[in-house]
Amino acid sequence: MINIKSIFKFWKDRDGKEPIRVSKDPVCGMKSTEGIDFVHEDVTYSFCSDHCRGQFEKDPRAYIAK
Ligand SMILES: [Zn+2]
Repeated sequence: MINIKSIFKFWKDRDGKEPIRVSKDPVCGMKSTEGIDFVHEDVTYSFCSDHCRGQFEKDPRAYIAK
């Protein structure tokens, strides 16, 4: 049986967290454009273009590790 209290605690903890957002394009290093986002491991990355987002989606770790 699912423990209801633990579920509520989970959501409460989630709400208390500030969302992590990276506003610099991790692919090319340029300033990102609003609305071109990709979420990877609870971090929202923003990109200058769909092209850069596509590159990141293929291999996020290659760009995060830098
Ligand atoms: Zn870019």
